[in-house]
Amino acid sequence: MIFLTGGAGFIGANFVLEWFRDHDEPLLNLDKLTYAGNLETLSSLQGDARHLFVRGDIADGELVEQLLARHRPRAVLNFAAESHVDRSIHGPGEFIQTNVVGTFRLLDATRRYWEGLAPAEKGAFRFLHVSTDEVYGSLGEHDAAFTESHGYAPNSPYSASKAGSDHLVRAWHHTYGLPVLTTHCSNNYGPFQFPEKLVPLMVVNALAGMPLPVYGDGLNVRDWLYVHDHCSAVRRVLEAGVPGQTYNIGGWNEKPNIEIVHTICRLLDELRPRAGGGSYLEQLAYVQDRRGHDRRYAIDAGRIERELGWRPAETFESGIRKTVQWYLDHPDWVAHVQSGEYRQWVALQYGGA
Ligand code: NAD
Repeated sequence: MIFLTGGAGFIGANFVLEWFRDHDEPLLNLDKLTYAGNLETLSSLQGDARHLFVRGDIADGELVEQLLARHRPRAVLNFAAESHVDRSIHGPGEFIQTNVVGTFRLLDATRRYWEGLAPAEKGAFRFLHVSTDEVYGSLGEHDAAFTESHGYAPNSPYSASKAGSDHLVRAWHHTYGLPVLTTHCSNNYGPFQFPEKLVPLMVVNALAGMPLPVYGDGLNVRDWLYVHDHCSAVRRVLEAGVPGQTYNIGGWNEKPNIEIVHTICRLLDELRPRAGGGSYLEQLAYVQDRRGHDRRYAIDAGRIERELGWRPAETFESGIRKTVQWYLDHPDWVAHVQSGEYRQWVALQYGGA
């Protein structure tokens, strides 16, 4: 049994769906179902006994303890987080609560469970913490890409809260010996991403005839990785990663935001020509820059490639084409997460908001 948190979110849900494509090992999925959690993404698993979903908070130490005792997992994978930088600027409290306090509670309940395991199970156990390249801070134009030994310099409330959680995970290894693994991945894109993030936001706004908002001069650079490649990297680290080690995950795809928007518009022009003619690029609108906007992130994924033999399967060109096509093919999924209908359904199913 694998115990995964945040498995109704973008990356967690992609991980769960892919897990069952080549595993029969059951998976316990703990998710609070915030605005970013969407059970509709997992509807193909309805009635599948291998997937056990529990609505709950990673910061609820008692619940986590009970789940560990009852299901006796061989690994905990922590995907749960508040993940949107813009939201962290407006309301950092939730980010500290889930990303720092929540990770602490999950980690400490896991430590107590792990300490009680038989020696063989104890040695094989893993706590895998999913983190971000944003903890390393911002790079200058000519700086070398982040390696795992790059110093921490988080600049947003989001990245600071993720950095805090990474430090806790590291300390639980050094102090208590918990076999932890930490991954730092670059920007993900792909199916089932909440349309507040750049790629789905552009597709959704373009199709709705709305402005395509681009921060500042559009030249902020990020590395981009197709979500399935992130999931395959996490599976590889879980299988073969060395406890206490950190692994950068990236696609060697550094691109300025404006280039991402141009690529999406070009694909949409080809796949779904605008009703009134012309290009979707005509909807582009530069807006005031994000406060404290990091200029450049770049990931050196050399360690995971050399030591664990992982490679991304998609190029940016193939991954972004699949992604745009997915959003074109799934207007209902997008409409539901935007409409609030889904929130009402969750309240009906599980109580609360
Ligand atoms: P997301 O916002 O789409 O999903 C987060 C999930 O966590 C949601 O299902 C939400 O309901 C759940 N959650 C939030 N608070 C919770 C809590 N207190 N208890 C239980 N569940 C809770 O995020 P994502 O993009 O899927 O990111 C997943 C992880 O990957 C995060 O840890 C994030 O920091 C990391 N990451 C994301 C990216 C990216 O580009 N999206 C890149 C690198 C790393």
